[in-house]
Amino acid sequence: MDKIQVRDREFTISIPEAKILQRVSEVAQQIQHDLKDEHPLFISVLNGSFVFAADLLRALDMPCEIAFVRVASYDGMGSTGKVKQLLGLKENIEGRTVVVVEDIIDSGLTMKQMLETLRQQGPKDIRIASLLVKPGNLKVDLDIDYCCFKIPNDFIVGYGLDYDGEGRNLRNIYTVVEE
Ligand code: 5GP
Ligand code: MG
Repeated sequence: MDKIQVRDREFTISIPEAKILQRVSEVAQQIQHDLKDEHPLFISVLNGSFVFAADLLRALDMPCEIAFVRVASYDGMGSTGKVKQLLGLKENIEGRTVVVVEDIIDSGLTMKQMLETLRQQGPKDIRIASLLVKPGNLKVDLDIDYCCFKIPNDFIVGYGLDYDGEGRNLRNIYTVVEE
């Protein structure tokens, strides 16, 4: 079954589970090679990255830690538009090597604001690991250190990503079928 229904929309398989896991393991090898002496703190951005973070960390054979954060958006004042606030980080990241784990980077605005907030806390190094990147939508300059897949601008679900709250438990990644 390559086609599925999530709520009112039809989706078709885009990246099968086996291919995702293979690629996650390759990226884990890269991270391990780069950071094995750093005892990095992985910061998983909820909700979407929980599946990727779980597989990525279990593919690593090195000392590391994980923390979970949320990004809350609210309307800022004047022309600044949406302001994103980082919630839930209790760990002290001063002097530490941090890897932010995201499900998907679309415009890149969320990641950019998150990096600015984290930098204020004086980490030694901040790296980005994103399961997916939509290069066609990127609006800011971001140095994405670790990326599993670059995808087109279509809406996707599965492997942690949702459509209106559903679909996070799907093992494969699916693309919406345009009506
Ligand atoms: P950005 O600030 O990079 O534009 O937004 C990134 C966030 O947008 C992601 O963390 C995710 O919540 C959401 N997002 C962007 N594209 C998709 C998509 O195709 N599917 C899903 N489920 N969420 C997406
Ligand atoms: Mg996300």
